Amino acid sequence: MLELKVGVGAFSQTPNLRLRSGEGLSGRVWQSGQPLVINDYITWSGRAISLDDAPITAAIGVPLKARTQVVGVLGIAHESGTEQTFGEAEVELLNRFAQLAAIALDNARLFTAAQEAKAVAEAADRAKSAFLASVSHELRTPLTSVLGFAKIIKKRMEVITPAVNSDDRKVERAIQQINTNVDIIISEGERLTALINDVLDLAKIESGKIEWNMQSFPIGEIIERSVTATSALFVGKPVELIIDIEADLPTIVGDQDRLIQVVINLISNAAKFTNQGSVTCRARRMEDKILVNVIDTGIGIAPDDHKKVFEQFVQVGDTLTDKPRGTGLGLSISKQIVEHHGGRIWVESELGQGSNFSFTLPIAAPIGFETKVEDEAKVHVIDLKAILEPLKMHVAAATPDASSSQKSILVVDDDQNIRRLLQQELEAEKYLVYEAADGREALEQVKLHRPDLITLDVMMPGLSGFEVAALLRASPETMGIPIIIVSVTEDRERGYRLGVDRYFTKPLDTKVLLREVGQLLEQGPARKRVLVVDEDAVTVEALTNVLKAQGYHVVAAYNSEEGIEKAITDKPNIVIVNSLLSKQNNLLQTLRAERGLENSFFMLFE
Ligand code: ADP
Repeated sequence: MLELKVGVGAFSQTPNLRLRSGEGLSGRVWQSGQPLVINDYITWSGRAISLDDAPITAAIGVPLKARTQVVGVLGIAHESGTEQTFGEAEVELLNRFAQLAAIALDNARLFTAAQEAKAVAEAADRAKSAFLASVSHELRTPLTSVLGFAKIIKKRMEVITPAVNSDDRKVERAIQQINTNVDIIISEGERLTALINDVLDLAKIESGKIEWNMQSFPIGEIIERSVTATSALFVGKPVELIIDIEADLPTIVGDQDRLIQVVINLISNAAKFTNQGSVTCRARRMEDKILVNVIDTGIGIAPDDHKKVFEQFVQVGDTLTDKPRGTGLGLSISKQIVEHHGGRIWVESELGQGSNFSFTLPIAAPIGFETKVEDEAKVHVIDLKAILEPLKMHVAAATPDASSSQKSILVVDDDQNIRRLLQQELEAEKYLVYEAADGREALEQVKLHRPDLITLDVMMPGLSGFEVAALLRASPETMGIPIIIVSVTEDRERGYRLGVDRYFTKPLDTKVLLREVGQLLEQGPARKRVLVVDEDAVTVEALTNVLKAQGYHVVAAYNSEEGIEKAITDKPNIVIVNSLLSKQNNLLQTLRAERGLENSFFMLFE
């Protein structure tokens, strides 16, 4: 039998078996890339060399070649004591082995490299998302100041302009310039806001940090609301907006606001890229899916660009000469949203032939969708006495001041500029404004001044805004004060769970804020509806009385069915339920899943 020694790498006894180019048999093969047969090794090399203590007499080395590059050497050798030599046949055989071994080696190397590259890319992607999110967050607060103050300047200029002597042309020109410049600051600020919102949205979706508010609803509702939101884009343009929704479409399960965002984006793009003709928004049932199309008669998209338009920051067409305003992010956000719902989005188009953007949504619940059932532990469970006693005392002590002279507002924000901005805006509306720079100061100010409303930032040193809201809502004396969150943190669900009344994200639209402030103050507790559910009539009555005395509109229910029925018809802002009753009948979960009660504040008592 043939005794062979096989080695990969160098035949030398170097511990790490590393090849040295040109040295020894392996080194030569490595260098030349050609097989080498040596039948008298000692004569060839001038020294004896051994493998496993036995000196070798004859040897072959063949290169391991991955594509054209030598990646190793495969060798076999005879030990001394055998008189065997090597010939063509052995070289050929070894060459075949070498080819297979080289492919295996190369694949292993490529696999490792691919794994490493993937890990690096994933880390870079995570870093990018985190970076984008934090930069966008950091930009929001200053942007609120820039936009907010620019808008105040614009308002003040409206007062100043008519009062200034306009006979002086220089003065007139200066005023005109100020007005134009302020308008530019405002419109550019708004553009920047849109960009930041898009970037942040994408970063949030990609990092999986988005909250999906899944509900079931008819698709037509989404289209109608999107059409209303975009109708202004068609004013004064010879483009007709056509709506074509199949009757009796089944409901779908999804995040309504996010899907509206998709349809708005498609309709806005269609409006932007269509100068004449029509934009049609169509919805049809296709087997187990709903198909939505937004079809335009605009400039169209070249087939090569069909996939690209869904990539981030991509704008196609002649962007140098006719750059449309936009971020190139809308479609990639839309893609992520549709795919999260288990659907697909694509475009069919030819240059100059208009575009047809389509997306599908499954009719059944998409995979991965779970009904969000709130855990009862997240709801305050309060001792009934703890609510009733202080409430009674408060009612007895409070001197009703329905005539209520000037309404007061507490502005809580650690950013001084934002406080100043809100103060100026609110004082201009004749409100009395108090300020607090952090959570603790906010609680002190509430105790001291009992404001009629609070605007609350979330990220603050010490106590966060959410903690402040929770403390205020848990205390009967402050639970009725309307709270408006004004923050860069987008966690609406948490805010509403804590019972805040409105949730604004920075950059802030002060006009909308002022409108909401007015509405909330006008409502007061009288317009706040409370539903009390308990089987014990005495408890229900006691709670009803004190809440009514506080000015709330109270509805009572004496069992679960009645509770659900009244919740649906009355849509209460606050629901107070006996915790035992709630547990027995899953009342809280049932109520939370009801449409129209998403923003209600729930309290359990025992
Ligand atoms: P943008 O904010 O730039 O509109 P999108 O991601 O929504 O970002 O769109 C990306 C690009 O796709 C657009 O800049 C445009 O080049 C192209 N596009 C989108 N919709 C249409 C359309 N209806 N007609 C022609 N081109 C479109």
